[in-house]
Amino acid sequence: MPKQLVWFRNDLRTCDHTPLSEALLAAHKQNSDLVAAFIWSPAQLQQQGAGAPKLAAYQQALDALNEDLAALGVELQIITAPTWQQGVTDLIALCARLGVQDIYCHYEPGWDERLRDGQFHTQAPADLELHRSNDLYSAPPRQLLTQQGNFYKVFTPYKKNLLAQLLEGLVAPRPVPNNGFPALAVKPLALGERFIWSNPLQLPVLEQQAHERLDDFMAQMNDYRDLRDFPAQAGTSLLSTSLALGTLSSRQIIWTIAQHNGLNGDNTYLSEILWREFYKYLLAWQPELCLGQAFNKKWDHFPWRTDPVLLQRWQDGQTGVPIVDAAARQLNQTGWMHNRLRMVSAMYLVKILQVDWRQGEAWFARQLADFDFAANNGGWQWVASTGVDATPYFRIFNPHEQSRRFDPDGDFIRRYVPELAPLANKAIHQPTPELALQLGYPLPVADYKAARVDTLSKFKKLGQAYEQHN
Ligand SMILES: Cc1cc2nc3c(=O)[nH]c(=O)nc-3n(C[C@H](O)[C@H](O)[C@H](O)COP(=O)(O)OP(=O)(O)OC[C@H]3O[C@@H](n4cnc5c(N)ncnc54)[C@H](O)[C@@H]3O)c2cc1C
Repeated sequence: MPKQLVWFRNDLRTCDHTPLSEALLAAHKQNSDLVAAFIWSPAQLQQQGAGAPKLAAYQQALDALNEDLAALGVELQIITAPTWQQGVTDLIALCARLGVQDIYCHYEPGWDERLRDGQFHTQAPADLELHRSNDLYSAPPRQLLTQQGNFYKVFTPYKKNLLAQLLEGLVAPRPVPNNGFPALAVKPLALGERFIWSNPLQLPVLEQQAHERLDDFMAQMNDYRDLRDFPAQAGTSLLSTSLALGTLSSRQIIWTIAQHNGLNGDNTYLSEILWREFYKYLLAWQPELCLGQAFNKKWDHFPWRTDPVLLQRWQDGQTGVPIVDAAARQLNQTGWMHNRLRMVSAMYLVKILQVDWRQGEAWFARQLADFDFAANNGGWQWVASTGVDATPYFRIFNPHEQSRRFDPDGDFIRRYVPELAPLANKAIHQPTPELALQLGYPLPVADYKAARVDTLSKFKKLGQAYEQHN
């Protein structure tokens, strides 16, 4: 009879998985069996914003996890449910059927995730215990406070404190547990409808792919600072999908960086990993961010434009601004967008087209294989100036300048906006109306300069009104 159960969530790996290691240890001590479970609810994930690329990536990662667990002698049971609420009820029923007394899982900070765990506590019988490990984070959020005892709202001091803690006691990732259970035959998972995503960039999704990519990337980490802003170059790690699914843990990355370069606050790659943690840390303190709320209420009443046609043009890569359109088409074709372009594209939607950042956030969520609520919301609120440690409202990227700077030869634009390929490097960033018409490329949907002035004046007015009333 299995007595221990590992409840997998956004942690679809066997390496550095504390709940799995702890459950195996308990199973050995008590000479009992171990089973694993996952609540598969595409409808719930879609309601949270995810689209086909993320759902397909989930299915691929689950299939691989199923095989890896079978090799460890652990069966993965899929609980298919229309909602997590139903899934939790079914999980409790499964535990009753199998005689499970202890469930091991990771703590997750999001709003729905808290409701899910709260519901578990309400429904579960008293003798069914949930052991939650907190190592989604490299240091528990409650341990990272300002000198005044508040949570951090600025990244740099947060990072300093976190790094100091890591330097004091960096914990090595746990190896894949060696449990001595006989391997099981692999049974295919019943995951229902299969979602389609062709992954043309070959982003690492599975645990093994993520480990291989991480090792390869270490050889180019020193070039990251110089290359990471150029979308035509392969300068970034592409590990975001693995991190979003939890096929790779951030501790594994931090540990690997430490082995190669030590933990140094000047390491740009390490800083980006810590930005990711910062946004997750904020969710632990401010779960209301999941409800569409702006962190900084000052800009919450910006008079956003509601213009479905404009939004559609931006989504389709038909704004007439080449770098913005190339970015949108990269997203639509591959399920991923380069970080520099996420900023440029989001900034254009919010501060030039004056569309509510929440609409852009939802579109990215639906199209990205690496969709991660905390990082996506953090990124959008950074751009919109409503976020924690966000860019000031008056900082508005000029997309043409960004294009000249970060895609100087127009290689990236040519790749994704082939109709502009015949243009010379100088002309490709901002084609004249004559050239655009000749090549069948749309004219810009907005007058950049006028829109910028209008946005600045609206922000300024809003700021003044806010100061008067607060
Ligand atoms: C508007 C907007 C939306 C975004 N949405 C998401 C999202 O849904 N999911 C997501 O994982 N990232 C998101 N990001 C952050 C970042 O763009 C991606 O993590 C990065 O482009 C992924 O590519 P990479 O793995 O090659 O990154 P690398 O440059 O190799 O960085 C390594 C890792 O660090 C983390 N990271 C890097 N930059 C950031 C950042 N600015 N904020 C938080 N974490 C970061 C990611 O986990 C990334 O995989 C968003 C950024 C913006 C501006």
